[in-house]
Amino acid sequence: MDVTGWPFDHHGSRAGAGSVRRHNLALVLRQVADGEPVSRAAVAARTGLTRATVSSLADELLTTGLLTELAAARGGQGRPANPLQLNRSGPAGLGLEIGVDHVGACVVDLTGTVRATRTVPSPHRTLHPHTGLALVAGLAAEVIAGAGLTVIGATVALPGVVGPDGVLQRAPNLPHWVDVPVSPALSEMLGGPPVAVGNEADLAALAELWFGAPWLTDFLYVSGEIGVGGGIVLHGALFRGAGGRAGELGHVVVDAEGSPCSCGGRGCLEQVAGQEELLRAAGARDVDDLIARRGAEGPAAAVGVAGRALGVALAGAVNLLDVPTVVLGGLYARLGEGLREIVQCELRTRVVARPVEVVLSEPGTGGALRGAAATVVRERLRHP
Ligand SMILES: [Zn+2]
Repeated sequence: MDVTGWPFDHHGSRAGAGSVRRHNLALVLRQVADGEPVSRAAVAARTGLTRATVSSLADELLTTGLLTELAAARGGQGRPANPLQLNRSGPAGLGLEIGVDHVGACVVDLTGTVRATRTVPSPHRTLHPHTGLALVAGLAAEVIAGAGLTVIGATVALPGVVGPDGVLQRAPNLPHWVDVPVSPALSEMLGGPPVAVGNEADLAALAELWFGAPWLTDFLYVSGEIGVGGGIVLHGALFRGAGGRAGELGHVVVDAEGSPCSCGGRGCLEQVAGQEELLRAAGARDVDDLIARRGAEGPAAAVGVAGRALGVALAGAVNLLDVPTVVLGGLYARLGEGLREIVQCELRTRVVARPVEVVLSEPGTGGALRGAAATVVRERLRHP
């Protein structure tokens, strides 16, 4: 669990007993989530709270369905202790994704485990936004029924710039999606649960932070899709920039005289290393065809060009941000070791500060969807 943003009451004298109890409930929940299953005694020892306080707090968390008890371990002396763990049948999070050419939905339980997921093609460059939203709402109903859990909220991963009010302000690859109020529209279609929105690369970066290698706390995540998205994680937290729009790596210029880009610029990384240009240059029908033939001469040359451009853009970002690791996700993760080595080689010669390691995403494709769903349950764990 990340601890950044964990509610800690710095105003104990004014906040009162209710606030202290809420803080302690979150503290106990975090201890269980960090090392379940765990006994009440161990939670007391780790938090410094008394056994009686922990028991009372645990009882409340059992009643509200956030925790469950396992059967007591046999063989000990005195009253057997039932270890605590997060309730796999408790509140669940819904993740939704509206991509350039697909929609997805998934449900995760309190541990972040995916319990139901589905992705289907959907051409959003030509579809009206309302049609796209209705399609994702239908898919949501399907996965909720499949998971059989109570969904307490949703987060939507979007391929563009999102505002704090749940509006998709602009998505360079979706010309019809300008100032679309995604949160209120989907909340109504789904029957009222709170719906948040986030940038798809940011949510995929969070999935990497939460479900990837435990040592990954400072990294730059880059996903290859139709667009090229970036997510920045510093000190175990997402870095969003002054206005929440940081990470637009796809529109970093790698060739000042290059092809015009959907953003209005020219020679952006996306025009060289985005999925469509990569497929075109490789002479591949689709992503599966590219992956299958990536060792052949034409596709290998195309991957080489894309990988070097990716390395150039990433080197600029790494020199600016001083992160020790770059994570390749989406299509780039599927291209595997061949692409990883090309990017690593570029960074070796271009980064001035220190060696940078390039790794492939662990959650892989589907990271944005899982990250979106997990934000919902993690918020509940922070505020039980
Ligand atoms: Zn651009």
